[in-house]
Amino acid sequence: MRLILLGGPGSGKGTQAKALQQRLGVPWISTGEILRQEIAYGTELGHAVRSYVEAGDLVPDDQMIALMRQRLLQPDAVNGWIIDGYPRTAFQAEELDFLLAELKQQLTQVICLDVSTAVLVARSLARARSDDTDAVIQRRIDRYQERTVPILEYYEVSKRLVRVNGDQPIEQVYQAILSAIGVV
Ligand code: AMP
Repeated sequence: MRLILLGGPGSGKGTQAKALQQRLGVPWISTGEILRQEIAYGTELGHAVRSYVEAGDLVPDDQMIALMRQRLLQPDAVNGWIIDGYPRTAFQAEELDFLLAELKQQLTQVICLDVSTAVLVARSLARARSDDTDAVIQRRIDRYQERTVPILEYYEVSKRLVRVNGDQPIEQVYQAILSAIGVV
């Protein structure tokens, strides 16, 4: 099973990906988590990306594409994965297709959690991570609308996209995802 979870900041991608990881027995790959760890450990990559993450801006594509290549080459990712938070730009989406072709891996499905902006803001505030101030939350939502929403069409025309109503309670979203990927 190879799944991509897309959705705005606060859409519940991480929560769903964690649950799906256990159910499907494949690793959860969260680019946001990886970046936060790199920052916490003070690595070279951490230093390079910190200002973007703290401002709610996107880390440049080159760095993200290199990071994803490295992660998908890890042995635990050979037989499947759930990627959360990637791709976020058209260029990342195209490069991911090239990478998967090179690795001879086939994407099973892209799942988009559709959540209204009001709910995104409310959930992000409730979560109150250190990077979740009002201005940062707004910037992350703006970047999602500008950069990530357009790539939904890319997956839609290639018939790889399923939309799930992410305004529902967690358990219902989870069941909707399982039925979308044919697991019951
Ligand atoms: P997330 O936990 O997925 O909301 O990601 C937290 C932050 O990490 C984002 O606000 C971005 O600054 C950065 N980030 C995560 N994934 C990506 C990506 N695919 N492209 C660019 N920046 C990213």
